[in-house]
Amino acid sequence: MRTTVAVIGGGYGGITVAKELDGVTDVVLVEPRDTFVHNVAALRGLTDPGWTDRMFLPYDRLLERGTIIRDRAVRVDETSVWLRSGERIEAGYIVLATGSSYPFPAKVDVEDSAAAKERYHAAREALARAGRVLLLGAGPVGLELAGEILAAWPDKSITLLDPGSEIVSGGYSAEFRAELRRQLDALGIRVVLGARLRQQPPSEAGEYATFTATLDSGERLTADIWFRCFGGVPDTGYLAGSLVSARRPDGRLAVTDELRLPGQSRVFALGDVTAIPEAKQASAATRHASVIAANIRALLQGDGEPAAYRPGTPGIVLPLGPDGGATYAPDWEDYVDAATQEHIRRHAKERGDGLLELGILDAELTSQLKGRHLNVEEYAQLLNADPAGA
Ligand SMILES: Cc1cc2nc3c(=O)[nH]c(=O)nc-3n(C[C@H](O)[C@H](O)[C@H](O)COP(=O)(O)OP(=O)(O)OC[C@H]3O[C@@H](n4cnc5c(N)ncnc54)[C@H](O)[C@@H]3O)c2cc1C
Repeated sequence: MRTTVAVIGGGYGGITVAKELDGVTDVVLVEPRDTFVHNVAALRGLTDPGWTDRMFLPYDRLLERGTIIRDRAVRVDETSVWLRSGERIEAGYIVLATGSSYPFPAKVDVEDSAAAKERYHAAREALARAGRVLLLGAGPVGLELAGEILAAWPDKSITLLDPGSEIVSGGYSAEFRAELRRQLDALGIRVVLGARLRQQPPSEAGEYATFTATLDSGERLTADIWFRCFGGVPDTGYLAGSLVSARRPDGRLAVTDELRLPGQSRVFALGDVTAIPEAKQASAATRHASVIAANIRALLQGDGEPAAYRPGTPGIVLPLGPDGGATYAPDWEDYVDAATQEHIRRHAKERGDGLLELGILDAELTSQLKGRHLNVEEYAQLLNADPAGA
């Protein structure tokens, strides 16, 4: 009998590990949604109806031999996965890949893709009517959303509000933030740092309703709609048995270098659920997935040393709409092929602005690397899916 690998969650990491082990052994992927959600495109999915369709990609051609069960894991211990339906799966190996939740529109908590698209359409209609938009949070989500809104409706007035002292906190450089600030200023986006609202706005996020809010400085600010652009929470509430001890107070899971839960030889975790000290990104989740697939393959075949995961240096590709934004990537040469390296060097030389020497790729390169296509082809290819005309 072949060993069953149960992968819990079909996000970026889950689909990668499931696909890499499909054919090696019996893979069961548990996922409550009817389609993969390409979250990287979610903010454009709000503002551009073509992208609302493109960000939902079917799962049905992901695995050739393995099985996808449309259900939610409600309890997972060392060897078993209990599903919402009451079914129980016995597994030789378990990969926890349940990611994180985030306020709409960055993520959507509706499992049915038709209903999720309706939610994006309704919010887009509300946003279209609004002249003044308040975005709470000046991290990557707040900035990207501001860029997408202005790309669709250049006349809207946008305020980004954040209690922190800088935009896009994390291990990025001051020069990177300065380049983003320069572009935000050029777009006419108002950034208010070190400030909070005294009270939550009276309307629901994403609802069209004019309100006036007071900042802790006493300034009054009127807007027609607001969105919450902070507050990701890892989805790990289903752990049971000895797995519970891996769960930290913030909900993230401690993992070893081999990406196993501490003290567990057959339970692995990847992506946003992990407590690995690095930015939570799809690219990291897929790198974790490849390490886990290699380790499970080696364990199944009884040979080879376990592979260890080493976090990379901080980096981010941050579009401001399809044509703007900036990329922080001090080791950019490690991520692109030789032809692209040549293109980037030539472009930087022509510009002569010194950004590349600081590990920063400018708006045009950011647009080429991600801003225009939002990496949808990459994941459509993995899923063997048609990205709905992308
Ligand atoms: C707006 C936005 C833009 C982003 N842009 C980028 C980018 O450009 N580049 C980048 O690298 N990263 C980006 N990220 C971050 C990236 O989306 C996350 O880091 C990534 O989704 C994490 O992947 P994951 O596999 O850990 O989990 P997820 O992609 O979150 O997937 C988890 C899956 O598990 C399922 N699930 C949850 N609970 C259960 C359960 N109990 N049982 C079964 N299944 C369950 C969920 O339905 C979901 O499908 C962005 C994030 C946002 C919000």
